[in-house]
Amino acid sequence: MSEEIPVIPHWIDGAPRPSTSGRTAPVYNPATGAVSAQVALADETEIAAAITSAERAAAIWGAYSIAKRQTVLFAFRELLNARKGELAAIITAEHGKVLSDAMGEILRGQEVVELATGFPSLIKGGYSENASTGIDVYTLRQPLGVVGIVSPFNFPAMVPMWFFPVAIAAGNAVILKPSEKDPSAALWIARLWKEAGLPDGVFTVLQGDKLAVDGLLNSPIVQSISFVGSTPIAQYIYETASRNGKRVQALGGAKNHMLVLPDADLDLVADQAINAGYGAAGERCMAISVVLAVEPVADELIEKIAERITKLRIGNGAGLDGVEPDMGPLISGIHRDKVSGYVDIAEADGAEIVVDGRGFTVEGHEDGFFFGPTLLDRVPTTSRAYTEEIFGPVLSIVRVKTFQEGVDLINSGEFGNGTAIFTNDGGAARRFQHEIQVGMIGINVPIPVPVAYHSFGGWKASLFGDAKAYGAHGFDFFTREKAITARWIDPAKRDERTHGGINLGFPQNN
Ligand code: NAD
Repeated sequence: MSEEIPVIPHWIDGAPRPSTSGRTAPVYNPATGAVSAQVALADETEIAAAITSAERAAAIWGAYSIAKRQTVLFAFRELLNARKGELAAIITAEHGKVLSDAMGEILRGQEVVELATGFPSLIKGGYSENASTGIDVYTLRQPLGVVGIVSPFNFPAMVPMWFFPVAIAAGNAVILKPSEKDPSAALWIARLWKEAGLPDGVFTVLQGDKLAVDGLLNSPIVQSISFVGSTPIAQYIYETASRNGKRVQALGGAKNHMLVLPDADLDLVADQAINAGYGAAGERCMAISVVLAVEPVADELIEKIAERITKLRIGNGAGLDGVEPDMGPLISGIHRDKVSGYVDIAEADGAEIVVDGRGFTVEGHEDGFFFGPTLLDRVPTTSRAYTEEIFGPVLSIVRVKTFQEGVDLINSGEFGNGTAIFTNDGGAARRFQHEIQVGMIGINVPIPVPVAYHSFGGWKASLFGDAKAYGAHGFDFFTREKAITARWIDPAKRDERTHGGINLGFPQNN
């Protein structure tokens, strides 16, 4: 039976490379629960082949002129724009999110591709003429060489696109290790790069698990690691890559709060809390997981949210009956059970279950990994259901008495990825943006993912390393700067002692 199931290959040297490791992992269609494919899990030989190919390609690509690199990037942008529907279908089939949401992640990734097409002005160095008499100082920004990207399951296209357009534009060769749960998007992207004219080996897909990741972490040829995933793995990546002398940016988990002040428009809040809490079944690092309701608004807000939740349509994200649902399934049966376990914990700790998504099934998709939208009230802040990332369609309400109590709660948390405040009071919002210990803040905006020319990244356990993704941080991360101090003697003044003669003192500027 398993012989009939396709094995998703690597992409090495500009072509699919069937696995020879004998190791695979199942890939599911989360809406049906059926295994749709097996994905190759790289062994040492395959890891070495990927790195060798990328190293060779980095030397070629890094020497391409800026104009030639830009032509390839524009071609990639055009192809992606024309064919993104194919990619959205692949994402929905392996991740489960609804098609329009899959398209949404592609569009946000495409923004970074578009930013990267303008790379010449973003990586040009500076020049200071006559910094000292007869001496000029200038900077060059050069590619790192081979760079590694390790991505999570929840955005199989967008998260890699936070990094590879910038890395490739800057002249690097990329090895992408996608999540083994939804590996096909990366392969589709690799084929598109080939069509766009990228030289073979500049974009490599190494399918695999911890072995592949460790292979990148421990290779002296791989110069940097850009990681996105859960906090414990982010910390491991950060520590290991740093110890091995690499640049590293490791984005971790989240627990994002929405603070609702009593003057807020509660209909807007209810709609936005639902969009941000249940979109992509809560499997977003910028999902709102906790609503902090500053009293006396909690009862009214809960009523509005609960009433709206009952109208949400949950089903196969591909919208097989011609109507797209609002929310698809979770990524796996194991993850669904974990989410369910958090609702059990909240209940045992004294939370009130307002809407219960446990045991939810979709007719005709009984084996799919569905979990119903869940609303919890009075969740104790000591409960693991409050402190830990659930990563499912579970929205917790915590009632607070004051603005300050809300701010203090947010600031006392482990994570600092995103947060939002809903209010009509500009002064309160301004104080919030100043005091809150979080990297990305929304003011009446529930999912404040920055646009491509502002960088993406959280604080505290949501980001290990100094560089955020894309924007100015991205171009800094994927280039190495050289500063050159040069003296050329004016031929008309050769006979003067313009070089200063012998002087053993430390160089002075004059
Ligand atoms: P994960 O940490 O399980 O996996 C991420 C990647 O790491 C995958 O490619 C996986 O194969 C690899 N990996 C897993 N275990 C490893 C190990 N022991 N050693 C080396 N590599 C390992 O994360 P996930 O479940 O795929 O994704 C969900 C998580 O990602 C959530 O915590 C979510 O908040 C986070 N996330 C964060 C952001 C952000 O911007 N901060 C964005 C998206 C997702």
